[in-house]
Amino acid sequence: MLRPNAFAKVAGPAAILSAVGWSLWLWPSHFLWIYPGTGALFIWFSWSGEKEVKYIFLFLITAAGFILPNLSKGGDSIYLMAGAIAEVLCLWLLFFSLSNSESSRLSARERLSAEEAAAGDKIKNLEDELARYRMHLDSTLARIRDKGALSAAIQDMGSASTPDEVKGRLETLLTNYFPGSRVELRSGAPRDFADKWVAERKIPLLVRNSDADSRFSRGLFGPEEKSFMALPLHLFGSLVGFVRASAPEPDRFRAEDLRGAELACTLAGVSMENIRLFETVNELAIKDGLTGLYTHRAFQSRVEEEILRSARAKVPFSVVMVDIDHFKSYNDTYGHQAGDAVLKAVAEAVSAGVRDVDFAARYGGEEFALVITGAGKAQASASAENIRRVLEALSFNFGGRQSRVTASFGVAEFPAEAAAAGQLVRAADERLYRAKEAGRNRVVSA
Ligand code: GH3
Ligand code: MG
Ligand code: MG
Repeated sequence: MLRPNAFAKVAGPAAILSAVGWSLWLWPSHFLWIYPGTGALFIWFSWSGEKEVKYIFLFLITAAGFILPNLSKGGDSIYLMAGAIAEVLCLWLLFFSLSNSESSRLSARERLSAEEAAAGDKIKNLEDELARYRMHLDSTLARIRDKGALSAAIQDMGSASTPDEVKGRLETLLTNYFPGSRVELRSGAPRDFADKWVAERKIPLLVRNSDADSRFSRGLFGPEEKSFMALPLHLFGSLVGFVRASAPEPDRFRAEDLRGAELACTLAGVSMENIRLFETVNELAIKDGLTGLYTHRAFQSRVEEEILRSARAKVPFSVVMVDIDHFKSYNDTYGHQAGDAVLKAVAEAVSAGVRDVDFAARYGGEEFALVITGAGKAQASASAENIRRVLEALSFNFGGRQSRVTASFGVAEFPAEAAAAGQLVRAADERLYRAKEAGRNRVVSA
């Protein structure tokens, strides 16, 4: 089939053919000269790529090569035939070499275009990969920035010294993390549907668009709560509060944001636990577990402090050592548990018998020590005497059996009777020993 533009391509060869025909008509004996003209015809075909027409003309020119020499008159027709055959052969050669070069040009073009297409695909793949890499880079950079901000905030939260401070810092962190959104911290039991949802499922809640969330009816959310997050706050494994963040536009929070907020809440919980543990450890170090009074160590440092203060203010202070009488036999008679209860009761009486500014400690076993600030031994002895009387009047009932305890007291004063802490405590202890020797249940201050 000829292509639509074939007419133009046929017009050229038709013109050459007409010229050849016309020449033959005018000068039939010079037909050999027309072969170079048909050579031009093949070059034209090769250029235009019209294979079908090319073959027709090859056939025509070959036939002409055999017919024309026979038509011409004269004795040299054998030479003309040889010349015509030679020219036809030359034309065939030209035809095939042109066809060859054309087909190799075509295959080279095809190869080139295939290579071009492959290179195009490769470039496209590379561009896609580059675009993906850029996106990944952007999100990684954003994540690094977020992580940096988060780790700074975590350090900030970890340095807080009270639970309220931690809560304040958590609120600031989330507000900075989600600018334009409302962040709220609530302590205590669940108050609304979101708190209850979180408390029941023990997982945080993310609502991307409250208008389109099938889990909750629209009326539950406020007009400013199109995007919504609710998270639990835990302390030592129990739910102690809720954190929520909301924004007036939908799709403000992603799953990644919920994870970030959850991490911040967990860290806030851990920080608050740390503060509690630190306080507990501190208290354990200075408070006695059974009686709640200060420990022996706390007493020692208090005496040291009091010596400095007293020396500076030039005001005396006193130390009173207290020891329960015959407590071993009390334990033996009523049991160790009864003894513990008595120790607690005595500790209460002892700390109730001194002012707030004074200091009561469990010195060890059934012994107590008091620091009576800003007071000489006369005033301290009076306090001790009061305590002694209170103790003497106490009555205990264990298993229906009534019992009583008494205690002995030794009092010493700084700086009149001792120049250092050890000396002062030893002086009070010696007087306590003498109170025991003198019959117990008494105060000795000299
Ligand atoms: P004294 O009048 O000479 O002080 O006689 P005591 O029996 O009180 O003195 P001793 O030092 O011989 O005994 C002290 C007793 O205090 C021994 C121990 O059973 C008792 N004790 C010490 N610490 C505790 C305690 O934490 N709980 C109980 N239940 N008893 C304790
Ligand atoms: Mg004792
Ligand atoms: Mg005793």
